[in-house]
Amino acid sequence: MIRNQAKQDYSVKMRFRMRIFLCLIIAVIGAGGTGVSAMPALLTEPVSSSSQFNRMAIIIDDVGNDMKGTAEILDMPVRLTVAVMPFLPTTKKDAIAAHEKGMDVIVHMPMEPKKGKPEWLGPGAITSNLTDEQVRERVEKAIDDVPYAIGMNNHMGSKITSDKRIMSIVLDVCLERGLFFVDSRTNFRSVVGDLAIAKNMPPVGNDIFLDDQNSKAHIRKQLDLAARRAVEKKSCVVIGHVGHTGMNTSAVIRESVSRLQSQVQFVGIGDMVRDVWHWQAAPTLPTDNK
Ligand SMILES: [Zn+2]
Repeated sequence: MIRNQAKQDYSVKMRFRMRIFLCLIIAVIGAGGTGVSAMPALLTEPVSSSSQFNRMAIIIDDVGNDMKGTAEILDMPVRLTVAVMPFLPTTKKDAIAAHEKGMDVIVHMPMEPKKGKPEWLGPGAITSNLTDEQVRERVEKAIDDVPYAIGMNNHMGSKITSDKRIMSIVLDVCLERGLFFVDSRTNFRSVVGDLAIAKNMPPVGNDIFLDDQNSKAHIRKQLDLAARRAVEKKSCVVIGHVGHTGMNTSAVIRESVSRLQSQVQFVGIGDMVRDVWHWQAAPTLPTDNK
C-alpha cells in the first residue's frame, strides 16, 4: 500500500516533467532526428511505452566474477539486465558483452549487510565506518569500473540501505552521473525509496527474488508469481543470480521465456524506469563511463 501510494505521488510529480519530455521528443522528431537509439541486433522485440503492456524486468546479480551461469545468462534470447560487480576479473568483459547483446548493465554495488561474512562483500564495498568522502569516492570508482552502466543496485546491503547518511551520498553520486538506483530490498526498513522520491529519482526496487531457494521448481514458482504480478500491476522487477543458483536460474528463465511472452513483455530495467516511472537520466556531471 505504502509503495503504491508513493508510486502514485511520484507519478503526479513526474507528469509535468513527462510533458516537457514529450515536447522535447516532438521537437527532436520535428528537427529530423529520431530521438530513439538503435536496438542491437539480437534483442529486437520493440519496447512500447503503451500502458497496456505487462512489463517484467529480470535483473541478474553477482555478474563479473565468471561464476556459474554467466555464459548462459549472457546468451539469453531475451532482454535482461545484468548487475555487474566492480573490480572483479570479468567485470569489464561481462559488462561489454551484455551491452553488445542489447542488455542493460547496472553496477552491483557491494554494501555491508547486518549479518554475513565480510569476504562475501567483494572489493570496494560500502561499509558503515566510512566517512562521507570515502563513500563518495567508492561509489564514483565503482561506476567508473563498470562500462555502460545506466543504474546501480545493492549487493547485500541490509545494513547500509537503512542508513540515511550513506544512502543519501550514494544516490547523489548516481544522480550526478545520470544513474538510477534499484533497491534490491534486502531490508524492509530500507530508506532508499523515500530518499529517491525526495531527490526526484525513480523509487524502483526489487519485487521478487527468483532463486532464494536453489531448486528449479522454486525458481519456476517465483517466475510465475512475478508474471502474475506483472499482469496485475503492469510491471514487476525480479532478481536472480549467477553463482551457486546460476545454472538453475538460467535454465528456468530460458525454458520459460516463450511460455511467458504471451503474458508479459521482458524489458530492461532502463526501459522500466523510462516507461513506468517516466524518468530520464540527466547527469549533472560529465562522465566518461564507456
Ligand atoms: Zn549480490
